Amino acid sequence: MQRGTVAHAYLFTGIPGIGKMSVARSLAKALTCSSGSKADFCDACTSCLMINGETHPDLHIIEPDGDFIKISQVRTMQDRLLYTHFLDRYRLVLIDRAEAMNLQSANCLLKTLEEPPENTVIILLTSFPYRIPATIRSRCQRVVFHPLPSRMIEEMLQELRGPTASDVYRLSSRLAGGSLGRALRWQESGILQQRKRLLALVAGSAHSLLNAIFDFADELGEDREALRELLDLLRMWIRDVMIAKGGGATADLLNIDCADRAMHMARTLSWPRLFQQDLLVADAQSALQGPANPKLAMEQLLLMLSPTPGNRGAGPVLQSNAALTL
Ligand SMILES: [Zn+2]
Repeated sequence: MQRGTVAHAYLFTGIPGIGKMSVARSLAKALTCSSGSKADFCDACTSCLMINGETHPDLHIIEPDGDFIKISQVRTMQDRLLYTHFLDRYRLVLIDRAEAMNLQSANCLLKTLEEPPENTVIILLTSFPYRIPATIRSRCQRVVFHPLPSRMIEEMLQELRGPTASDVYRLSSRLAGGSLGRALRWQESGILQQRKRLLALVAGSAHSLLNAIFDFADELGEDREALRELLDLLRMWIRDVMIAKGGGATADLLNIDCADRAMHMARTLSWPRLFQQDLLVADAQSALQGPANPKLAMEQLLLMLSPTPGNRGAGPVLQSNAALTL
């Protein structure tokens, strides 16, 4: 991007992990780099290094403090813009998860957007643009980040993480739904292996099923983040079984390592049962957003999903207490 053609404010939108923050940082470097390049950055000068380390005095990053971006955070940023301009180039404000601004913060930011200071670029990043007031959106130039094709994610994983059994990357790239960040995170977290265990529980193919369910809930019960991720993956699995049941080909499935099992489940489960399973997982997802005990929520869910002795796979939804006294 050539200097002199930048807008005062941008709204970067797209799913989490798609690269919005990386691009925002690159733009910050391009606008402050001291190497003299007009369109790029060197990634080696003091300025670039300070942007990388988030220590650049003309870079201000705001992210939610708890659930919200508070008005005090916006005011601190505005004070900095009023009084300081260190390196005589651009100043940048990055507002991550900008949808977390409450009404007061948004109104406060609006003043800056209405009278943008010289040589200042404000970038709002969000996966939920419709939650940002229209008055703010209309003052920003929108940049949409589309989900990446799974083929591209697979290639980027090879490049960033080095060669490995290529089917691991192929699987992650299909399940990641266009988010490179998510695929990268999975390489470290081992969540895809947990997914496989989870699928065995739901299919009822795990050894000593009831014990296996309680062990699983015990191990992961404290980790809300992992559970959220696993429930997302579980819904993708149910989607796969539905596709298989609808006559879809193996190539249409996301869980390519469990295609045979998906085909088998498709023959075993009725349509009502499949929709019921999806609903049960959706309910558990909402429960995890609230104060529910994650371990108990997971136990309950798995007892209702799996073909445990009291459940038989196709029966009506068990009441939660009934599920717990199995
Ligand atoms: Zn540089």
